[in-house]
Parts: sequence; structure tokens; C-alpha cells
Amino acid sequence: MEDFRHSAKTRHIRLLEGVAFAADDEDAYHCFIKRPPYQPVGRPLPCFFVLGEAGGRLPQDLHARLMNMGAQEKSPVIVLPSNGLDAPIAYDGPLLRQEAVLHIIAPLDNAASRSRGLLESGMLAERRVLIAGLGSFGSSAAVELAKAGVGKFALVDMDRLEPGNIMRHQCGVADIGRFKTHAVRDAILARNPGAEVATHELDLNTKLDLMLEEARDSDIVICLTDQGRSRFNCNTIALAAGRPALYARAITRAAGGDIFRFRPGGPCLSCLFAQGAALGEDEIASIRSASERTPDYAPPGADMALVQPGLACDIAPLVQMLVKLALVELAPRGIGHWERLREDLAAPFYIWANSRDDIYRDWKPMDYQFNRNSIMRWYGVRVPRDEHCMSCSLA
Ligand SMILES: [Zn+2]
Repeated sequence: MEDFRHSAKTRHIRLLEGVAFAADDEDAYHCFIKRPPYQPVGRPLPCFFVLGEAGGRLPQDLHARLMNMGAQEKSPVIVLPSNGLDAPIAYDGPLLRQEAVLHIIAPLDNAASRSRGLLESGMLAERRVLIAGLGSFGSSAAVELAKAGVGKFALVDMDRLEPGNIMRHQCGVADIGRFKTHAVRDAILARNPGAEVATHELDLNTKLDLMLEEARDSDIVICLTDQGRSRFNCNTIALAAGRPALYARAITRAAGGDIFRFRPGGPCLSCLFAQGAALGEDEIASIRSASERTPDYAPPGADMALVQPGLACDIAPLVQMLVKLALVELAPRGIGHWERLREDLAAPFYIWANSRDDIYRDWKPMDYQFNRNSIMRWYGVRVPRDEHCMSCSLA
């Protein structure tokens, strides 16, 4: 089996577009293959890889085994000849034989090759991140971290993906109705098939013990919810577990956003907010979050009006910064690129000015100036520890 995998590695697929990522059991590869003629919208049709003797038709025993594995009559099937020498054969459905040339990517092996030199990808494969909140921020951060080579995840979110989410979310139409935890897990595995992903479909505010356990098992806590309460609960958890933590959010209509980093011994989220650093209103990104903030006497539909989604491109700069801050915490010491970034990102608090709206509405246009405050820039902010902080002075 190993031999075959290596000999087939450099062949390119022509008739069927797709790659095999993982061996699910001893003799079956399983991959997802996108086939627009059959599935213009929706879940890509799974393609099955089996090891066996190929003929003009798919052998009966293989056909039966594929049906047991969940194949449908139209499922593309690729037979990898047992001798490891002959070319693989593709069946467009179990009956129609086509010639196929495969490109099989060994998990982690090839996928991470571009990051070598920048990252000790072996080290990051053992790093574990706890992500609370899997909206536009959380889903994008999870996928970016997987792309960087992070190998272990714990995902927490109680919501299911709704149609209104998908314009900013990493997951699309095919995942509507699924738990965000499950959809994001699959998005992580699509980038890093070797990743280990634990999921919790729950309100973190009601399961603080479990969250503390997960934080202790992780190297960093990343809180990307759009509610103050869960952010402060994550602060308590990170303090108790002695783990670094990151908090990112957009403010009203994505006029900007901010990211706070906690390191054990340093200022915590409560220190920051005790010092009046609550700049702008949290962006309300979901109907659920909006309805929690709508007064009881508000007319029906008022919660809808509260939802203030920026565009995905307004969220992206915040996600990119968040991921860099996370990698600085996760990357091993002594690697030049990351040591320099560690020095650059010395501040615990970062403000992103995104557009001349809301609190930035009176700023001058960015135009050609670089010596005055402008939008489309990051601002690092010093945050002293509050000696009387109710959270970290007692921890
Ligand atoms: Zn504090």
C-alpha cells in the first residue's frame, strides 16, 4: 500500500479533478471531488478510492464494498491496482470506465512544504488551540491556523450555520443547517487532514468547568464571540489555566476592530476595560446576539435591524493579525522570522482603523499621508496591569 501511494504521487489527474487525502482504513482512500455537471450547488460528491483489480467494469465485490462504504450509483470510483504498477482506473459511477491519472497527496507531507523554513511545522503540529466562537472571525482564524500547520483544535460554538452567515463565513451553502463546529472541523481537515479536532456544541457560559479543562489542554485560548459575557468568561478561564489568550472583535459596521492579547502575568481583559478602553460598540454579527440585546418592548423584527455585518474583506485584516499574534505565541523560540515578529508585536492591545465611519468619522482621508492618524492601519497600544483588577489580582 505504501509503495503504491508513493509511486502514484507524481501523476496528475486529468479526467477527474480531485485528490486523495487520507487512508480511512487499510485499503480505501476517501476524498471529496467537485463535479459541477452533477452537483452545481451543494455538497461535493465523495469520490472513493479502492485498492483492487481493475477491469472493464468495476468488479462486483468492490461494488458491493463501496455501497457499504456509502457510495452512490453515480459516485466516482478510482481503483488503485493492487500491483502498484498499473495506472489507476476511474469509474464514473461503478460501471463506466475511464482512464485516470492521479495526483495523490500524502497527508501533511506535501501540504506543509511551503511553510518550511518559516515554521517548524512539526512543532506546530503538536500545538493545540481552543477557539470559542465560530462566526466569520472564528471560522477564518481556524482555517488560517490549520494552513499554518497547527495540528490540534478544540472548537466551541452552540449555533448552526444559517443562510445569513455564509457571505462572511469560511463554510458555504453546503453546510447550512450544520453545527458550525462540525462545518469548521471539516474546513480544517480539508487543509490539514492530519489535524485532531474536538468539538463542543454548547454555550460556553454554561460549561465553564469543561472550558477550563479544554484551556488547560491547549496552548492558547482564542475568544471570538460577539458577546461581552463570554469574553469575560474566557478571561477568567485563561487566567485560571495560565494560558495566553486572544480576543478579537469588529466594532459597529466594521468601522474598525481591536485585538487584545493576554499573557500570564500581564494585563488581562478586565484590566483593559477597567481603563476605559472600550472603543466603539461591539459589532452585532448574529440574530441571536442581537435578540439578546433587544429590549422586551421593542417591536418584532427590531433584532434584525441591530445586526451590523461588515463585509468579509473588512473582517479579513483583523483575522490576519489575530493569526499572526497566535503564531507568535505558538511558534518555537529562536526562529528569526518569528523572533522579529515577536518584537514587532510587543503591544498587548491593537486597534485597527478600517473606514472613516463611527468613531473614525472625523479622521482625515488616508490619501497620500503617512504622518498622521489614518484608516487602514494598526495601532499598538500599551496597557498597564491594573493593580486592583477584580480578575487578575485575585487569580
Ligand atoms: Zn486584570
